[in-house]
Amino acid sequence: MNVILLGAPGSGKGTMAQKLTNDLQIPQISTGDIFRKNLKEETPLGLQVRDIMARGDLVPDEITIEIVKNRLSEADCRNGYILDGFPRSIVQAEALDGFQQISAAVNIDVDEDAIVKRLSGRRFCPDCNGTFHVSTLGDGNICPACGGKLIIRADDSEETVRERLRVYYKTTFPLIEYYKKQGKLITVDGNGTVDEVYARITAAIGK
Ligand code: AMP
Repeated sequence: MNVILLGAPGSGKGTMAQKLTNDLQIPQISTGDIFRKNLKEETPLGLQVRDIMARGDLVPDEITIEIVKNRLSEADCRNGYILDGFPRSIVQAEALDGFQQISAAVNIDVDEDAIVKRLSGRRFCPDCNGTFHVSTLGDGNICPACGGKLIIRADDSEETVRERLRVYYKTTFPLIEYYKKQGKLITVDGNGTVDEVYARITAAIGK
């Protein structure tokens, strides 16, 4: 099953992708994680995308498409995958259609107010890529999953969050119509607890 998770930044794509990966035993392909890993390791790609990500802009389509195309050609993607954060533009979606057959695009629909609240309280673990919310963490800044030190992602600052949302509505939101036209769109209410949203997604994709 080749599934795309669509949704605004902070809609829960990463959290849902991780759960699906565990349950369905197919990999989560997160372009954001790939870029962050390159940033951390200061690879040429990392240096190339650093300022773009810090501003909340999108990495150019040609670069992103090439990375995903290579990643999806690896053996572990043969039985399916969860795409988290890709495609993020019509150009990316059209390119993807050129080299992959997509089963479903799940749009996680969350109110904008809730998104701003989620992102501004978000904490990230660079060791295990886990994402948590301050409301569930108590006082500490220790990752409940692996014991790593939690950080605030540079692109979760208020100014960058606003820019990421602007970019989302302008460039990524049209993908909802794109997959609707293909008959592949499944919209799921993304408000509520992680377990509630996850149950809606698994029911919607029949897993
Ligand atoms: P994410 O973790 O998915 O929110 O992605 C973090 C950042 O990585 C985004 O704000 C973009 O700068 C970049 N990025 C991730 N995925 C893509 C994509 N499909 N196209 C372009 N830029 C991306």
